[in-house]
Amino acid sequence: MVGSGPLSTLGAFRWAKGGNDADLGSDSQDISGAREREHRGLRADQGDLSWEEARARHLSWLPSGRLNIAYEAVDRHLETDRRDRVAIRCLGRHDQVTELTYADLARQTGRFANLLGELGVRRGERIFLLLNRSAELYVAALGTLKFGAVLSPLFPAFGPEPVRERIVRGDGVVLVTTPELYERRVVPIRDRLPGLRHILVTGDTNPPAGTTSLTAGLARAADSYPVAPTGPEDLALLHFTSGTTGRPKGAMHVHGAVLAHYVIAHYALDLRPDDVFWCTADPGWVTGTSYGIIAPLVHGLTIVVDAADFDAKRWYRILEQQRVSVWYTAPTALRMLMRHGAALAQNHDLSALRFVASVGEPLNPEVVVWGSEALGHPVHDNWWQTETGAIMIANFAGTDIKPGSMGLPMPGVEVGLLERGADGRALVTDGHVRPIELPSVTGELALRPGWPSMFRGYLHDAERSAECFAGGWYLSGDLATRDADGYLWFVGRADDVIKSAGHLIGPFEVESVLMEHPAVVEAGAIGVPDPVAGEVVKAFVTLRPGIAESEDLRLELLGFGRRRLGAVAPKTIAFDQHLPHTRSGKVMRRLLKARELGLPEGDLSTLESV
Ligand code: ATP
Ligand code: MG
Repeated sequence: MVGSGPLSTLGAFRWAKGGNDADLGSDSQDISGAREREHRGLRADQGDLSWEEARARHLSWLPSGRLNIAYEAVDRHLETDRRDRVAIRCLGRHDQVTELTYADLARQTGRFANLLGELGVRRGERIFLLLNRSAELYVAALGTLKFGAVLSPLFPAFGPEPVRERIVRGDGVVLVTTPELYERRVVPIRDRLPGLRHILVTGDTNPPAGTTSLTAGLARAADSYPVAPTGPEDLALLHFTSGTTGRPKGAMHVHGAVLAHYVIAHYALDLRPDDVFWCTADPGWVTGTSYGIIAPLVHGLTIVVDAADFDAKRWYRILEQQRVSVWYTAPTALRMLMRHGAALAQNHDLSALRFVASVGEPLNPEVVVWGSEALGHPVHDNWWQTETGAIMIANFAGTDIKPGSMGLPMPGVEVGLLERGADGRALVTDGHVRPIELPSVTGELALRPGWPSMFRGYLHDAERSAECFAGGWYLSGDLATRDADGYLWFVGRADDVIKSAGHLIGPFEVESVLMEHPAVVEAGAIGVPDPVAGEVVKAFVTLRPGIAESEDLRLELLGFGRRRLGAVAPKTIAFDQHLPHTRSGKVMRRLLKARELGLPEGDLSTLESV
């Protein structure tokens, strides 16, 4: 059963009480004002949803203790009044709308599962999706789970090599794609995918030679499929990490993770039965699967899916026209919206919006406060990883937001900060690590294993999997500070931390300060070798549109940094209008560093092309 071990002994959760006294001036008072509190109005049942309670009362389960994500997300709703509710509303690039009710989704996913059976796929085999955000993607994803095969969604923007590498490493047997993506991404590697047995291509006429038409296959297949009786420990998802720090790792997740998807979304995203939910992440990144597909559907909500990429006007229009009530997005997107100014937001009716959350990168306090002004709600930052499968730390509903902090550990999640060595990583002596205590400490962020969506290892990489655990903790590789109220503040990735004249400097702190300067919209900070200090900070800054680079501005920024940061201020600042980002929106500091030092650039498969 899911959650055996420490989690199953948890009783009702209590709300952690946080102060609102971050050293951020009066802004921090404004954002927990009456309006937000009123919007938050907690339901009576909201404070005590433990794993136990959710497992026993909120999930449906299949006979004999079997558990299947697709059943929880789709088929179980057929017995309820949600049956005819819109589950997924897909907005095409040209605004064409495709809607699937829960009943439609059950039929379509049944067809997909039958099609896999027809192709001779066996349970547990891996199905890769290389699809744009369209109804087919969601049908194939949930149909794969319903069948009991393992789902691995890929970013459609990946080039042929990253696609090939992941399919080969993940032992893919079926690839589902579109004619266009087939042509551009798959043809160049077609003869180097030895294990792949079938390629399903959308569109019903003339599938390319050697492929099968998905559309025709679905049209032929029967609607109903008895959901695979998977166990909670059966593999469900293979998700590759973002590759920010190196070669992407294939994190394996099980069906039992759905318990965490359900419970944590309830707390961290404050989901309520009538919500219209929009998660802007692509399912090629774990956020787009855990929260772009599974959690909201398990809650029986309507999800909005947009096929197009970021566009400020379009996004505001979607929020308005779709009456989105809960919105989960990322810092880079929010920063881009900020660039366009609050006036653009105020031209739209965002009255349906109730809760805004962000993940993926540090969320600068400035953006949190901007959310209150422009969107009418502060942004709730939260922290998690591909490996954790679900949000672990959040400024969650019912707690006070501290702008700039990642928030508090989710109920049921135990966070430790471990003593670190000179390299920033946890000090492990004979398998033992020392957690450090309150108040206000910095260490490697660690989690007590056992939460239901914890990854079950990296595929084909037992050694790297083992390195993530020590002394009874899962080591995240991130450094954080905990304040006296228990809030956690992101310092940096252990790999990105800059060691200068005896100080350990988190790049986020430097970047956040630079971004407070009116000319700066984004920044990336790295350490460069220095004969005296060991390393000194170099920052790359992106200027707001319309602001010209100049020596005067550079000097002004250096002075601004020095005044605000003292000894840890950047010694050099360079202008860079195209900071390298991963496709999931993170600044790739390792690439800035490699370029600066003339080192090999490493794995760039997840680099966003500019
Ligand atoms: P790789 O593991 O391949 O280097 P990655 O760590 O970027 O890539 P993900 O699992 O997509 O891959 O991202 C998780 C990481 O994102 C976290 O470890 C953390 O560094 C960063 N992150 C996520 N949320 C936040 C947040 N709220 N604040 C700061 N950093 C965050
Ligand atoms: Mg990582």
